[in-house]
Amino acid sequence: MKIQSIALLLIVLLPATVRAEDSSPGTPPMKNTDGFTNTPIVPGTTWHVHDPNRPQPEIVTPGSFSTQDSPGKPPSDAVVLFNGGDLSAWRDAKGAPAHWKIENGELIESKGDIFTKQEFGDVQLHVEFQCPPPKGHSQERGNSGVFLMGKYEVQVLDSYQNPTYADGTLGAMYGQHPPLANVARPPGQWQVYDIVFHPPHFDENGKLKSPAIATVFLNGVLVQDHQTFDGPTGWKILGHYSPQPPTGPISLQDHNNVTRFRNIWARQLKAAE
Ligand code: MG
Repeated sequence: MKIQSIALLLIVLLPATVRAEDSSPGTPPMKNTDGFTNTPIVPGTTWHVHDPNRPQPEIVTPGSFSTQDSPGKPPSDAVVLFNGGDLSAWRDAKGAPAHWKIENGELIESKGDIFTKQEFGDVQLHVEFQCPPPKGHSQERGNSGVFLMGKYEVQVLDSYQNPTYADGTLGAMYGQHPPLANVARPPGQWQVYDIVFHPPHFDENGKLKSPAIATVFLNGVLVQDHQTFDGPTGWKILGHYSPQPPTGPISLQDHNNVTRFRNIWARQLKAAE
């Protein structure tokens, strides 16, 4: 190959290489030079509209979507809670190692609720689950649950052709808010929760300043729209707040059914600027 041809090849390949490096996780964002400083100040900030000096968003490499046959990949900044390997991110209620079974890379609901060792406050949570073959009815069919801070349940239930009380349906904030729609897939199919949760806040006297809030997508459909928890959830009770720490574990419920889980990850959320 002639020297000129090699040089031309390098010129063609080089920009692609630079672009790939620029989008890798942990790489500082490229410096921006475009914008204006003769524009109004955005209320509540010190920044001009289109301010060239406003900090660039952190670079996060997105993951990939799951299919029925295989789980997708989490985004680059996710805390991986279960990826088919082991249960090292989880414990039981007493702090001992979690003992749910793992089969073919799937986590199987077994004896006792399990809890993440890591605690979360503001969080984006991704959980995939599969309800067992239909057996029983109403709350006895494919019942499990995803608990934020170990206290606020987003219900897991086989709600495919299985009526139950509305506030206990798949997608419900249990006992408080029914889902906006029933988008249950048949048992045996993988289903997906994407949850954004904000914890409650209390003042120095323990008085509630702001409640816990959840936005929930189930199988890609919005089922809870920035909805308020009335307090921790429970069976046949109203929710009541009492002061609690700012973070807590994510937990999965054992309800004597054999729900399977896969591809569980979380992103700790920073407050918006
Ligand atoms: Mg439940």
